[in-house]
Amino acid sequence: MTYAVKEIYLTLQGEGNHTGRAAVFMRFAGCNLWSGLERDREEAVCRFCDTDFIGVNGPGGGKFKTAEALADAVAAQWPDTDRSGGKPYVICTGGEPLLQLDAPLIEAFHAHGFEVGVETNGTIAAPAGLDWICVSPKATAPLVQTSGNELKLVFPQKEAETHPSRFEQLSFEHFYLQPLDVIGDPAQTASHVASAAAYCLAHPLWRLSTQTHKLIGLP
Ligand code: SF4
Repeated sequence: MTYAVKEIYLTLQGEGNHTGRAAVFMRFAGCNLWSGLERDREEAVCRFCDTDFIGVNGPGGGKFKTAEALADAVAAQWPDTDRSGGKPYVICTGGEPLLQLDAPLIEAFHAHGFEVGVETNGTIAAPAGLDWICVSPKATAPLVQTSGNELKLVFPQKEAETHPSRFEQLSFEHFYLQPLDVIGDPAQTASHVASAAAYCLAHPLWRLSTQTHKLIGLP
């Protein structure tokens, strides 16, 4: 298959359990919960997205005709000065990465010595072979992928389906609440941070995930 990729870049994971870890972010184009066009936002299932996942025109983006070609492009981002033993890590994100991520691509990443993580909205079952599955449920979208390593819930979301208590019995190793960032409204964002922190204090299963990359100016 041909893979449509918005961008590929090396950064530090800013969120969740792997915060601070060097990783190649490989952002697939396209999502099944929003077109990515502002004119469609109000009618979309997921309405708070702050990611540009349209097209293949970002740094390192493009259409890749084979899994090997895409894995080569990802591997080229990993620092060749690394002698520290840090395991190469690729995070497949989007958009919704499980629209495109398949077994041959996971194999191709593994052949380059990469651990493979995915950040998904959970509406599509994950293929076998992934090393890290992070599910971030969105609004009323039906949750299909109900197990994994990390459940990272943007908080608060107004739909009853996304109350944290709905997820606590699922089979995840880690549960994170991530305050909803409201672009251009720091007061609203701060109130979300406070309410997420209060929830974690009252329900210690949950840990607070802040978007540290935004604090330090990384992409
Ligand atoms: S599911 Fe993720 S990528 Fe898709 S619109 Fe929502 S936040 Fe954006």
